[in-house]
Amino acid sequence: MSIKVELAQRVKSLPPYLFARIDQMKEEALSKGVDVIDISIGDPDLPTPGHIVEAMKRAVEKPEHHRYPSYIGMLSYREAVADWYRRLYNVELDPAGEVISLIGSKEGIAHIPLAFVDKDDIVLCPTPAYPVYSIGTIFAGGTPYFMPLKEENNFFPDFSQIPESVLNRAKIMFLNYPNNPTSATATEEFFKEAIRVAEKYNIIICHDAAYTEIFFDGKRPLSFMQIEGAKEVGVEFHSLSKTYNMTGWRIGYAVGNRDVIAGLGKIKTNIDSGVFQAIQEASIVALNSEDSVLDEIRNTYQQRRDALLEGLQSVGLKAFRPEATFYLWTRVPEGYSSEDFTIMLLEKAGILGTPGNGFGEPGEGYIRFALTVDVSRIKEATERLKKVL
Ligand SMILES: *Cc1c(COP(=O)(O)O)cnc(C)c1O
Repeated sequence: MSIKVELAQRVKSLPPYLFARIDQMKEEALSKGVDVIDISIGDPDLPTPGHIVEAMKRAVEKPEHHRYPSYIGMLSYREAVADWYRRLYNVELDPAGEVISLIGSKEGIAHIPLAFVDKDDIVLCPTPAYPVYSIGTIFAGGTPYFMPLKEENNFFPDFSQIPESVLNRAKIMFLNYPNNPTSATATEEFFKEAIRVAEKYNIIICHDAAYTEIFFDGKRPLSFMQIEGAKEVGVEFHSLSKTYNMTGWRIGYAVGNRDVIAGLGKIKTNIDSGVFQAIQEASIVALNSEDSVLDEIRNTYQQRRDALLEGLQSVGLKAFRPEATFYLWTRVPEGYSSEDFTIMLLEKAGILGTPGNGFGEPGEGYIRFALTVDVSRIKEATERLKKVL
């Protein structure tokens, strides 16, 4: 006799998965033999650079790496992270207490509320956004308070719109710049304002910096850690996933405030056992890569950005010109919802984007395109768009 398997309330209460219908439609199109141009996913199509793969091959041969790793990461890995921050951002970090390894930054983002959020505490989450901020909050028993990112505000949250009673109960504020899905980049003024709010209401800022290295026109975006006072109020999450085309490797890090890093470390010590050391060793090689390696990746995305922007403009679609990230946040034409337009593009043109409302209600009216196909496919997409619009 089988038992009755009952999901926990926290799983039952998860918001519906808005992309499920789109996924199903994509499968149907593929099974009918449609040549789908999938520009919906934020996963680089480019391979991990060869010198990193070679370093991994050497590292995996070493028996000392076959044992349990350190919970917080090898010291040599944490030193490589600190060196990277010094070289690229002129930020000083103590590898012993201000850096921790993560099994991808998603892992750290999902777990950090467990360290600081009690029942009835609030976590400030941007929307539209990467869903992990609010889901991690819910799993920890906290309550997300959504800060809308609106076009008229350059996709920054308007802190003056958050009620005092909410700010008083808030323990964590998640921020993400360069932003997924809007591609907005932060200004120093915005980060300073966030720090003032954090200081006044005692809120930990968790900045997700997954896209700082995917930038264009030679303009490197800010790291939150560069802003005066940042280390006193928060941490920054980073990952090798997008920077070095290593999404499958599962490695990242958090840096910044040592008490916050220690809190996250306590959770991780009790849940996971760290990152495979061979991956850490290959990641040290990645972090020490010549600038030319990243320049080449950025160049590829920039060519794609320019091609897709031009294509979208040529059919009258308005997309924001990203200075960073590999996304084009695009307004859907008059008369369509995000979902209607996504479905129309798939059915009529075999082009798959991500409906903006899937990232949260204020994303309604937008569609996100990812620059994760080559220029020839982008040109093909443009030709198809011309036929249907
Ligand atoms: C891709 C992504 C991440 C994390 O990726 P990991 O592979 O888990 O390091 C984090 N935040 C945002 C906004 C992302 O798009």
